[in-house]
Amino acid sequence: MTHSLQALDRAYHLHPFTDFKALGEEGSRLIERAEGVYIFDAEGNRILDGMAGLWCVNLGYGREELVTAAAEQMRQLPYYNTFFKTTHPPAVKLAEKLCALAPEHLNHVFFTGSGSEANDTVLRMVRRYWALEGRPEKQWVIGRENGYHGSTVAGMSLGGMAPMHDQGGPGVPGITHVRQPYWFGEGRDQDPEAFGRQCAAALETKIQELGEARVAAFIAEPVQGAGGAIMPPESYWPAVKAVLAKYDILLVVDEVICGFGRLGEWFGSVHFDLAPDLMPIAKGLSSGYLPIGGVLVGDRVADTLIEEGGEFFHGFTYSGHPVCAAVALKNLELMETEGVVERVRDELGPYLARRWATLGDHPLVGEARSLGLMGALELIDPATGERFDKALAAGNLCRDISFRHGLVMRSVGDTMIIAPPLVITCEQIDDLVTLAREALDETARCLA
Ligand code: PLP
Repeated sequence: MTHSLQALDRAYHLHPFTDFKALGEEGSRLIERAEGVYIFDAEGNRILDGMAGLWCVNLGYGREELVTAAAEQMRQLPYYNTFFKTTHPPAVKLAEKLCALAPEHLNHVFFTGSGSEANDTVLRMVRRYWALEGRPEKQWVIGRENGYHGSTVAGMSLGGMAPMHDQGGPGVPGITHVRQPYWFGEGRDQDPEAFGRQCAAALETKIQELGEARVAAFIAEPVQGAGGAIMPPESYWPAVKAVLAKYDILLVVDEVICGFGRLGEWFGSVHFDLAPDLMPIAKGLSSGYLPIGGVLVGDRVADTLIEEGGEFFHGFTYSGHPVCAAVALKNLELMETEGVVERVRDELGPYLARRWATLGDHPLVGEARSLGLMGALELIDPATGERFDKALAAGNLCRDISFRHGLVMRSVGDTMIIAPPLVITCEQIDDLVTLAREALDETARCLA
């Protein structure tokens, strides 16, 4: 059965972010079921899901309450749209709930089917806002190198992933990027706080180059996730906020990963005190059980779009899909009643920080860092203290070994990252750290 499914997969299925030919040769892993923080493959192996799927299964697998919410909503109203002055109870209730959870000045939400669609929506809203304000020349959006904002053409353009820009022709015009606050990768020879200020200064320089009157918005993740769990130095965000305020530029904080408890607050913006104008969300909103995203819109932008905008010619068939919305609402209710976010902040985040830091003594590890339930290990060649030769693909090797040992860790180049479900226990964190060390040991042996 496993082999025939793998053969069919090879024959018919083009996977996202995959070398199609290489996967055809190696074959894919078949994941059949999941429970709590574990996934199970077709061979019956139990694997600790250190990535919560793709940073999304915040409540863990196998939550019957979410299954029931979906089934009940499917029976009641499996689909209706929210176009042309119609709505339905799940979309209304979810909108209200999200605005109650979000920072005070974010009081409206536009629903989408994914994080990428949320960022497409952001781009259209930002430019529309400035046009309505009588400043249509404010068109440029500044993102960050190595930032990730999705795979649609606008998402890819807002993101700063060079390999994505190199494929598929030109992106959306009027988008540019500045350096990322990646201290280990780009600033290790400097004091971290001075480096953070330097990255914020690079943003100011870019604004001046473009002309401040032409810059509409800056978009960034609170902590860069897909770029490698890059936690900015403390000096970074306050300095960025000051630059944006100086030039009257909107702040878009992409909460697709950091939102819904990952950093120990409902939103990464709360952790870093960011007060964004727009907040794209997805993933943890439904714990990944069904696809749903959205943009939380601050009063400044919402008031103009509502009062001056007329019809907004934008939307998706599945904007606010009733079944997805019902599951998301139940997910948020469960997170609240179970105190999941507070537990990450007060107990699990600090515990992971202590345990994860112990990996810093491993000869292959140049830095072990974590924030909330997100962690990263920077792999280095013990012989030189520098990065391994890229051709060795040390990160991918470590990822594959880790999987075989029973832990999903993701590799971004030679950065290993984890973002487990937020319902992980302290004992399971101990297991995670033990499995990560085993994977590092075997990787070291393979590379010796
Ligand atoms: N924004 C961020 C920060 C992300 O990490 C992702 C996905 O990983 C996206 C946007 C895109 O979301 P989606 O894959 O749901 O389109």
